[in-house]
Amino acid sequence: MLRVGLAMLQGARHEHAEALRGAAEELGLDVEVVECRRADHVDEQLDALVLPGGESTTMRIASRYESLLSALFAWMDAYPERPVLGTCAGAILLAAPEAERQPYLAAGIARNAWGRQRDSFEAVVAVELDVPEAEFKQSLPAQRDQFSHQPLEVASQGASSLSEGFPGVFIRAPRFESAAIQCTPIAHLGEEVVGVLDGKKLGVTFHPELTMDRRFHRWLLHEAVNVRGVN
Ligand code: GLN
Repeated sequence: MLRVGLAMLQGARHEHAEALRGAAEELGLDVEVVECRRADHVDEQLDALVLPGGESTTMRIASRYESLLSALFAWMDAYPERPVLGTCAGAILLAAPEAERQPYLAAGIARNAWGRQRDSFEAVVAVELDVPEAEFKQSLPAQRDQFSHQPLEVASQGASSLSEGFPGVFIRAPRFESAAIQCTPIAHLGEEVVGVLDGKKLGVTFHPELTMDRRFHRWLLHEAVNVRGVN
C-alpha cells in the first residue's frame, strides 16, 4: 500500500485525490490518499506528495498557524528521493526561493505571468516524461466535492497514449523564466517550458488534475513504487 500525501492547502484538492485514485487503478496499485491538513499529518510514512494549485499567497497565509507548509518543506528535505508533484501554485511553492534555503526546482518562476483570470486558457502541451503506459479506466465513480466539481472529459478519454499531446489547462498560470531553468524541461507549450523536473520534484504551471489524463499522477506513483520497492 502506497501512501500519498495531498497537501490540503487552498486549491484544487479533490480533483487531485480523484486523479490519484484513477492513476492507482490504471497501474493496478493500492494507494491511500492522505489528506494533510496539519503539520502532524505529514509523516515519514508518506511515499509521495502532491502540492495542488490555488493561490500561492493564500496558501502561505492559510497554513501559517498550522505550520503545514514548513512541515511539507521539512518532509521534502528529509526524503529528497521521494517524488513530489506541484501544480501551478504548487509549482510556485517549489520554485520560489525562501530566505533560508534554495528552491526545490532550479528554475525561476513568475506568478500570474500570462495575465489575468480572463487570460486563462487551454492548449495542447508536449510532454517528455518517463511514465508507464496504462489503459484508461473509467470505473471509478466521480468523487465530487461540495461544488460538484469533477474533471473535464478530454477528447480521447484519458489520452493515455504517451505520444499524444497533453490537454493543458492554464488558470492564472505562472511562467518559468527560461533563462533561469537549470533542471530538466519535461513539458513544452510551443517553445515555452511549462513543466520541469529537478531530481524527484516535478512542477507544472498547468492543472493536470482537471483532466482525465493521469500521466503525471501515474509518474508520481511509479516513482514512489521505485523508492519503496512495493507494488
Ligand atoms: N495565480 C496563482 C498564484 O500566483 C496560481 C494559480 C493557480 O494555481 N491556478 O498563486
